[in-house]
Amino acid sequence: TFSALNLDELTAQRDRALSDYDALVRRGLSLDLTRGKPSARQLDLAAAMLTLPSGHTAADGTDCRNYGGPQGLPEVRAMFSRLLQVPVAQLVAANNSSLSLMHDSIVHAMLGRLPGSERRWADEPRIAFLCPVPGYDRHFALSERFGIELIAVPMDDEGPDMDVVERLVREDAQVKGIWCVPKYSNPSGVSYGEETVRRLAAMPAAAPDFRIFWDNAYAVHHLTDTPVEIADILALCAENGNPDRAFVFGSTSKITFAGGGVAFFGSSPANVAWMTGNTGKRTIGPDKINHLRHVEFLRDEDGVLEHMRRHRELIRPKFEAVDLILTKELGGTGLASWSSPLGGYFISLDVLEGCARQVVSRAAGAGIALTPAGATHPYGDDPRDSTIRIAPTYPELDEVELAISGLATCVRLVGTEKLLE
Ligand code: PLP
Repeated sequence: TFSALNLDELTAQRDRALSDYDALVRRGLSLDLTRGKPSARQLDLAAAMLTLPSGHTAADGTDCRNYGGPQGLPEVRAMFSRLLQVPVAQLVAANNSSLSLMHDSIVHAMLGRLPGSERRWADEPRIAFLCPVPGYDRHFALSERFGIELIAVPMDDEGPDMDVVERLVREDAQVKGIWCVPKYSNPSGVSYGEETVRRLAAMPAAAPDFRIFWDNAYAVHHLTDTPVEIADILALCAENGNPDRAFVFGSTSKITFAGGGVAFFGSSPANVAWMTGNTGKRTIGPDKINHLRHVEFLRDEDGVLEHMRRHRELIRPKFEAVDLILTKELGGTGLASWSSPLGGYFISLDVLEGCARQVVSRAAGAGIALTPAGATHPYGDDPRDSTIRIAPTYPELDEVELAISGLATCVRLVGTEKLLE
């Protein structure tokens, strides 16, 4: 590793990195690895949806063109019931964007009482959410917008550190929630182990209205032939006497169209009644035409999984390219470590402590846009300044390769400079 080099050797490495970096800047690249969006080719996989549905009548005879059906079309709920581990009767199919359902859940909890709440969250002196880190920046931004205090909790490769979670949830009645991306987590790719899920479901909570925001955004987004399965949070919560504890979210945003998918909310019967009661005030029913379109296009659970295999063919080479280039350029240097996710949309790259911001800014200087360093942590503050999120799905493969080898140059430059300090 580079930390074992003597001063001359390290200086030589730094000089080499500097001349590589100058050459990189001269290339005048303009590449963007910031957001985990599907590529145009991935969206093309669902092109046939643009001419669907062919009819407008649901299985039970419902005319999907009309108002009504606050819980969404039964057949689209049936298609995703097992995939999201929510009984059909407890699953709501809504409009596009699961993020909007997370947003609305918080707003409804602020302005009205959740099942189990003693008072509206807006009337609480303080509301705090636990945030396993690294995590999803939009969860943090959404909570901050409503004045929710964010408490970072470290993660290991089985999920959040449960000793920390259990203590905070048991001791602090103002801790009302935790953000979880339980499968192929954004950005580390971690999937929660069975024991982690069981402990989340069973732990005592000081707040009677404590909620797990279970954002299963990557439930079917496998990168390998052996899909990761996670434990059933709703069943475990019910078994452990906490039936109303979990809100499950998911969507087809990264299955069909990111801007035109179907989002889902699943929970206990009491929470589902609470949710549909609230949404019934803001809409006379979801877009059932889009539900029908999804049913006609994806057909059933196997159809979803088959469709996801086509996505995988497009994105797996990009993930492999990232791993290959980072291994070639940075392997053995000790300047970085990175995740090798089995699914999801992200790779998380950890550079030497105190270097992430500089790496991102050097990359920007070479025309490579990365998610701001710190975005993976509450308040944009990564106390170690070490985690960088890589989103390889959107650019074409050759662009991913160029961007990652450029990024590796920036890591070498900033890392060797740091070691020379
Ligand atoms: N949740 C996670 C963990 C995500 O990574 C994303 C998108 O990147 C979303 C939710 C957004 O989901 P939706 O498009 O359903 O709002």
